[in-house]
Amino acid sequence: MPTYGFICSQCEKDFEVFRPMSEYEKPADCPSCGKSAKKVYARSGPPIVKDGTPRYHKQ
Ligand SMILES: [Zn+2]
Repeated sequence: MPTYGFICSQCEKDFEVFRPMSEYEKPADCPSCGKSAKKVYARSGPPIVKDGTPRYHKQ
């Protein structure tokens, strides 16, 4: 099942959601503040490495 990453537009919390492809377009609620979060990536395999850093890992 693909993993979708979201970043909350309200508090900027980033989190991941596992969901079937059929729910790809559904918004996710921020686990921190409950506001809707925007999708920032989707992956189903190894991390996408860009410039030596997995792009979905926020420091
Ligand atoms: Zn939030």
